[in-house]
Amino acid sequence: MAIDCLRVDVPTADLAYDVVCGSGALEALPSLLAARGLTGRALVCSDANVAPLHGARVVDLLRRAGVDTDLWTMPAGESHKTLRTVASLYEWLAARQAERRDLVVACGGGVVGDLSGFAAATYLRGLRLIQVPTTLVAQVDSTVGGKVGVDLPAGKNLVGAFHQPSLVVADPLLLSTLPAREWSAGLAEVIKHGVIGGGDLLDDLEHGRDAIMAREPTVVAPLVARAVEVKIDVVRQDPLEAGLRRALNYGHTLGHAIERVAGYGVVLHGEAVAWGMAAAARIGAEFGTCDARFVEWQDDTLRGYGLLRPLPALDADALVAATRLDKKVVAGRVKWVLPRRAGEVIITDDVPDEAVRAAAAWLAR
Ligand code: NAD
Repeated sequence: MAIDCLRVDVPTADLAYDVVCGSGALEALPSLLAARGLTGRALVCSDANVAPLHGARVVDLLRRAGVDTDLWTMPAGESHKTLRTVASLYEWLAARQAERRDLVVACGGGVVGDLSGFAAATYLRGLRLIQVPTTLVAQVDSTVGGKVGVDLPAGKNLVGAFHQPSLVVADPLLLSTLPAREWSAGLAEVIKHGVIGGGDLLDDLEHGRDAIMAREPTVVAPLVARAVEVKIDVVRQDPLEAGLRRALNYGHTLGHAIERVAGYGVVLHGEAVAWGMAAAARIGAEFGTCDARFVEWQDDTLRGYGLLRPLPALDADALVAATRLDKKVVAGRVKWVLPRRAGEVIITDDVPDEAVRAAAAWLAR
């Protein structure tokens, strides 16, 4: 079994950490921690779905290795990614007299990773964070880069911090228990990374569809490694999201708007991002950043992976209004990420309101 160790250097914060990625990597968690001097109690955070499937195993692995370990479980789902849930985690940490030397081990999808990462960033002004991602979204995207946070009623991820993990252990074998809809939603982020970064990832997506949809471990492990490498590459160049990192927001401006207008949880994050990518490509074709062939290629690719299924009824004006709440708004102007071709995107704030309205009307049609 090949286990890749990818290194993320975060120059401005003078930090570096390893993303250990490969089938069976979880088994090595205790030794990976010990080898990096990551000692202290392991405070494992998970959700109600993941705790019985994988969280209990993480606890067991660590206990067998002699690590003092405890498990906190939150209700599953985006609707629980709130300050209220963070408050209950703070209380749990306080009741266990968590110390600075202890480790928060986030075992779950992006919700668990973002929320317990935020608690780790803020409790005692910072506990070390270990990410053990269990969804495709979390393995290829959310656990790398140090963005942690929670939602407010006014919008997604509005409260947060940069808190780099000390270690990420991404084991694609954990993905075998994901529901099919979550698998496809995660593939939206993989396809997004392919459109941003191109290269081997695009070849994998073009030629490996049946094996990827069947989650064949020999195909999924390199796919995850390539997709996470795109993210690492961008994060390394722009750790604090000053510019280039905005490329990762491809499909997210209208994607977040869809999630918000439909009601969080109705359309999954990745499903909304897929539609956001389709809409951004249409804006790009209108402005000549890409051509109609790209729009068709991207639609076909997304559909081939179970995405672009019909949306619930959405109000176009509400979608346009929601794009203005995007965190990437600078001086009142939305920073749009538009495709040029498979493997290249551009960032612009020069998209007229009519084009945004037309894209929103297309989504709401
Ligand atoms: P999620 O954490 O809600 O997980 C999706 C569902 O799958 C949940 O019901 C969960 O309980 C279940 N699940 C998780 N792992 C499982 C497994 N192995 N087997 C069976 N069920 C499993 O959602 P997600 O798609 O992982 O993440 C979405 C979140 O990530 C959003 O809140 C988004 O804002 C955030 N995100 C953050 C970043 C970042 O840079 N911090 C990047 C992308 C997304």
